[in-house]
Amino acid sequence: MSAGGGAGGLVILDRDGVINRDSAQFVKTLDEWRPLPGSIEAIAALSRAGFTVAVASNQSGLARGLLDRKTLRAMHRKLRRLVASQGGRVDRIVVCPHGPDDGCRCRKPAPGLLERLARHYGRSLAGVPVIGDSLRDLEAAAAAGARPVLVRTGNGARTEEQLPDAFRDIPVYDDLAAAATALCGS
Ligand SMILES: [Mg+2]
Ligand SMILES: [Zn+2]
Repeated sequence: MSAGGGAGGLVILDRDGVINRDSAQFVKTLDEWRPLPGSIEAIAALSRAGFTVAVASNQSGLARGLLDRKTLRAMHRKLRRLVASQGGRVDRIVVCPHGPDDGCRCRKPAPGLLERLARHYGRSLAGVPVIGDSLRDLEAAAAAGARPVLVRTGNGARTEEQLPDAFRDIPVYDDLAAAATALCGS
């Protein structure tokens, strides 16, 4: 079995720009939370292929007072419901509620959110794909000892253009659907 792939594997997704449309003005309302084309089906496909799917997301809109917990929970209920309707499951969602100046250990590029998932699942993140659209997702993955994967949705195309040398060899896919297809085939 390839590292992290196949039945029983864990895959960790960023949220904004990977699963749903991102916004420079923050995704603040349930209405603004719009899945990217194919992303729900991709999560369901991963899940049906035996992957445990977790989400790790920076949500500084909470610290900035742009978003409340109730709205965030509603977004995640919607995500879970949509995925369930395709026969899949989002197993766990962890969120950093802090702002960039709070000095927390969970806001990506820090590895805290990923380490929280590692503790929850009682496993190392070696070989676990962490799929993101921003450099900080890749940096968090590397810092947690996981396997960074970039998608070109959200900030991803720009991230790819400016990719530091350390990440030159990581897999890059057009979107979550393409990444999921590759993972399910591995
Ligand atoms: Mg993102
Ligand atoms: Zn945090």
